[in-house]
Amino acid sequence: MNKTLVTYSLIFLILISLFGFNFFLSLIGNLLLLVFLIPLLIFLILLISFNSLKSKVNTCNQCGTISLGINNTCINCGADLEDINPKSSENLQKPSETTIEVKAEEIK
Ligand SMILES: [Zn+2]
Repeated sequence: MNKTLVTYSLIFLILISLFGFNFFLSLIGNLLLLVFLIPLLIFLILLISFNSLKSKVNTCNQCGTISLGINNTCINCGADLEDINPKSSENLQKPSETTIEVKAEEIK
């Protein structure tokens, strides 16, 4: 028989007798929760970073070139991009809603 397996099972039995079985059940539950929560957290972070990146990207309605929000004019044709990405203070929309609006303009 494997010696390490015996040692681990002995340690496990001692820990069960010390802390009780409910402790291990809660520990396993917490571990499972962590295993499910960590990918969810990573997915959420990726989604937020993707959204913030997308709000900075402008698509030219003249030639369709994608340029970053730092520039107010198109890199390719030099068309004004300010009408696509309004930066006025009265615009209180969320970045996600603004992105949907940009998409709607592309279809037209
Ligand atoms: Zn352009």
